[in-house]
Amino acid sequence: MFNVRAPFCLIEISGNVFADLMSWRQLAAKQTEAGGVLLGARRGPHFEIVAFTTPQRLDTRRRFSFVRTGKAHGRLARQEWRRSSRRHGYLGEWHTHPEPLPRPSFVDRSGWKNVYRQALQPLVHIIVGTVDIALWYCDEAGALFEGRRLTRSLGRGRELVN
Ligand SMILES: [Zn+2]
Repeated sequence: MFNVRAPFCLIEISGNVFADLMSWRQLAAKQTEAGGVLLGARRGPHFEIVAFTTPQRLDTRRRFSFVRTGKAHGRLARQEWRRSSRRHGYLGEWHTHPEPLPRPSFVDRSGWKNVYRQALQPLVHIIVGTVDIALWYCDEAGALFEGRRLTRSLGRGRELVN
């Protein structure tokens, strides 16, 4: 669970999603970046991330960049939208960084800006570092706020309040 104080917003990473995202960490020296889209429910200003798409064949994966290309992620997102009876939609983007505590690059920030220009609603973006996950909330005006962690995952479905 993460939160953003102003604007107040809670972001829950549900079930196995946290552990599954951590499984994409770039721990090996030559491992390339991974990424995809975050899927889940919006509850007022709050988010529940329930699923994510993983790298697809046409994506460009390098040590220090991930570019999502082609229509596969959009197709998977629409599948989840239908499967969940329109509860789980597109919430934002995720990708990995080969650094312990990840910070968004200039390219990340401009990419998120482009995504916001198309979505025109609040979004959430995750970067998976080699030690921890970091999260940014994009408000309805397109401003970015880093999320603070409220709980730490202990693995599959278990969380501990800090
Ligand atoms: Zn990045």
